[in-house]
Amino acid sequence: MSTPAPSPKWKSRLLTAVGAAALAILVTLSGVTAPFDAWVYDRLVLGAAPEADPRIVVVDIDQKSLAELGRWPWSRRTHAQLVDRLTMAEAKGIAFNILLSEPALFDPEGDALLARAIGRSGRVVLPVLAESVQLNGPSVELMPIPEFAASAASLGHAEMVLDDDGVARSVYLRAGLGSPHWPALALALLQLDQPPGTATELPGRRRVKTELPAASSFDWVRDHEVLVPFTSPPNAFRHVSYTDVLNQRIPTSLLRGNWVVVGVNATGMGPLARAPGQPPAASMSGAEYQANLLNMLLKDAAITPMAEGWQAALAALVAGFPLLLSILPAFRRIWLPTVATMAGTLLLSVALLRFGHVWFSPVPALLVLALGASLWIYRLLRQTHKQAQSDALTGLANRTRFDQALDQELRVARRSGQPLSLLVMDIDHFKQLNDSQGHAAGDAALKALGRILRSRARRPRDLVARLGGDEFAVLLPETSAQAAATIATTLHVDLANLGRKPHGTNAGSAPPFTASIGIHTHMTGDDAGPEDVFDRADAALYRAKQTGRNRSVSHTGEPAAVGTSATRV
Ligand code: GH3
Ligand code: MG
Repeated sequence: MSTPAPSPKWKSRLLTAVGAAALAILVTLSGVTAPFDAWVYDRLVLGAAPEADPRIVVVDIDQKSLAELGRWPWSRRTHAQLVDRLTMAEAKGIAFNILLSEPALFDPEGDALLARAIGRSGRVVLPVLAESVQLNGPSVELMPIPEFAASAASLGHAEMVLDDDGVARSVYLRAGLGSPHWPALALALLQLDQPPGTATELPGRRRVKTELPAASSFDWVRDHEVLVPFTSPPNAFRHVSYTDVLNQRIPTSLLRGNWVVVGVNATGMGPLARAPGQPPAASMSGAEYQANLLNMLLKDAAITPMAEGWQAALAALVAGFPLLLSILPAFRRIWLPTVATMAGTLLLSVALLRFGHVWFSPVPALLVLALGASLWIYRLLRQTHKQAQSDALTGLANRTRFDQALDQELRVARRSGQPLSLLVMDIDHFKQLNDSQGHAAGDAALKALGRILRSRARRPRDLVARLGGDEFAVLLPETSAQAAATIATTLHVDLANLGRKPHGTNAGSAPPFTASIGIHTHMTGDDAGPEDVFDRADAALYRAKQTGRNRSVSHTGEPAAVGTSATRV
């Protein structure tokens, strides 16, 4: 065994590592893997789904409530009553996820009642939404009417962020027109208990660069992007019907000291979204979404998507890692570091999500690693295939490859009408040479013959093969009998010259030797098969051996050439 040293391929591996890293950066920043990132995220985040906090209660404007209280929209007096009921039950806070941006046309008294109820409670937060007033026009903030806004404890934006696939995965903890001045509705609810001036650091990926000039006042600006770990299933919270609360059909203990989210949960009435990893049928209402946000904030479980720059850097590091590792002598077999890195990347992603509340998609790095592994396997297969068709000692084609080529060239020759010549060659008294000069000298002779044959059969379709032992073959498509005889003569001369070179100076330091050659040229009209063609050349070789060796004999019978050690070119 040789002593461990850095892989001789370290330079190319280093370069490939840099290439893999660059590709990983490109894949990350281009976002081409987004659907796969989302798919993997959905599966992994399901494993980290939090329990539903029992202190959260969703009051549903559901089918039952619609059946009992009549068609939507309801009188503001009804809402005022509900708020009073919740206040009496000592709910800790009420997120009223219903847009109250227009005054009731025929019932200003109802609006006044609701405003008073909201004011009395002192714990009601109301939603703000951005909406464009006309198609493709600038957005405006739809605020509660001034009476409600003034009596509400706080306002919060109720934007439900839907990804391209209709799945709600994230929320911006702050957003607003022109600047992110509104907290998310659930955040506004929790911040009710926060003494002014004690704002805690919000989690999430920052989207607003403070050094940039202020955004247009018509842009909806978002900040503190977080991924929401939804409960599984998403509606795991305690739900009660609006009408049951209104008609005091539920015990107040269910509401006392709890966070209440009031919202529409009837089909066809409000925005519906799918939570990550849930079937399309399991859709989630806006109130449910807010309840999940609340749950996430109460449990401090917000997941921050890793900044793109860091994602790209980490993916680059991971993609290049196996190649860098393979430079070390202990890891020369690159598949082991590759498989280990792929598994490690997935584990890292899971660990960051579970324990660090950070989302790093393993997909771009895994994609690059898988691509590298595929290329590597492809190369290995090609190499194996090549090895299976070549002779290890001389690097020439082996018998298998020769048989294939003879078969194929014979078919081509039949179609084209061109002659096909075959030389079969055997070293003379090779056993003796081996015995007298040693096996190494014998090997050197075989290699030298291989080199000579290759140098004389140079056309693209010419094929030189070692058939086994000291037997070689040269297949010469579109070569006449005469041309084949000339080549055979040249080969004898080359061998003679090889023997003349001072021993040890020529590459391979082969001992002098001669060889016998049998030639057969297949002509058009002859329907002989590949075996016949080979047998004829072999028979000619036999005759060459019989008639004194160191010569060529063609199948037609006449000696094609006689080798002489005196010949020189
Ligand atoms: P002939 O002139 O009749 O061909 O006599 P020969 O001694 O060459 O007889 P033959 O062709 O049957 O000899 C084959 C010998 O080739 C037998 C074996 O010792 C030798 N040989 C076969 N393969 C190898 C090899 O890979 N390396 C070496 N050094 N010798 C080999
Ligand atoms: Mg021989």
